[in-house]
Amino acid sequence: MKNKLTNDTSDSDGHAPLYIGAHVSMAGGLHNAVTNAVDIGASAFALFTRNQRRWQHTPLSNEEIRSFRDSCETHGFQSAQILPHDSYLINLGHPDPEGLERSRSAFIEEMERCQQLGLTMVNFHPGSHLKKISVSECLTRIAESINLALDTTQNVCAVIENTAGQGSNLGYSFEQLAEIIDKVEDKSRVGVCLDTCHMFAAGYDLRTKETAKRSFDEFNKVVGMQYLKGMHLNDSKNQVGSRVDRHDSLGQGEIGSACFEYIAAQPWSRGIPLILETTRPELWSAEINQMRYWAKQQAG
Ligand SMILES: [Zn+2]
Ligand SMILES: [Zn+2]
Repeated sequence: MKNKLTNDTSDSDGHAPLYIGAHVSMAGGLHNAVTNAVDIGASAFALFTRNQRRWQHTPLSNEEIRSFRDSCETHGFQSAQILPHDSYLINLGHPDPEGLERSRSAFIEEMERCQQLGLTMVNFHPGSHLKKISVSECLTRIAESINLALDTTQNVCAVIENTAGQGSNLGYSFEQLAEIIDKVEDKSRVGVCLDTCHMFAAGYDLRTKETAKRSFDEFNKVVGMQYLKGMHLNDSKNQVGSRVDRHDSLGQGEIGSACFEYIAAQPWSRGIPLILETTRPELWSAEINQMRYWAKQQAG
C-alpha cells in the first residue's frame, strides 16, 4: 500500500485513490476500451484482450499495442487501474491432458498479451474438475498451471477470481483460494479478485454491513487482504448460497446497497481496480458516482 509521501494522486483523505469502473467493450480495437471507460467517468476498467469465446486469435500488431498504450497515457490510466479478464474457455485445472495443455498455452498467451500492452495483472476463473478428478487434484493442477505461466512470463500477476461454485467450478471458498496460493511458488505474482456476487452465491452473507464485515474478515483470516488485487462489484439476482451466478445492478439484488457502501469505506478497496459487471451498462456512471459518494462520506 502506498503511503502519503509517495502517493501524489491520493485523495484528500490521504488514502490511495478509489479506482472504480466497469468491464467495458473493446469492439473495434483495444484502444476503444479506454475511451469507453472515459465515457462513463471511470477511473478503472476491465477488458478482454481477445475474443473471449474463441480459441483462435491473431497476435497483437505493433499498431494495436501502440494505440492502446497511447490511449491509456492520454487518459491517465496506469496498469494498477486496469484488470484484463482472460478467455472463458481456459480451464487451468482441466482433468484431461489435452484440455489442460490447450488451456495452459492459451493462458500463457493471455499473459504475454498483457505484458505487451504494459498491463500487470490478468484476472481468471481458477478452473473446473468436470467431475473427473478430485477437488484437491484439480486445485494442485491450477497452481501448477499458474507456476508454469509465471515461469514463462514477466511482470504480470495472476489474479484468481473467486467463483459462485456453479457446476464443478472451483475457487468458491476462501480455503480453496488459499490452497491454490499456497502451492504457487512466486507469491509476489499471485493475487485474488473478489466478486461480490460470486461470494454471496457461494454462501458468504453480505446483506448488512455487519455480515459484510464478517465475510471480508473471514477472507482476511483465510487468504489475507494483501492478496486482494481487484474486485468485481456485482449485486446478485439469486439468494445467498444459491451457487448460481446471476449479476444484478448495485442495490437492486439480494445483496442490497449496504455491502457496497461498506466496501467503499474500507482502506483495502483503495488503489485496486473495482470493476462493475452489472447487468445494465446505462447505470454504470450512476453506480460509479454512488461508490465515489460513499467513499467520500467515509473520508468525511
Ligand atoms: Zn466477476
Ligand atoms: Zn459472475
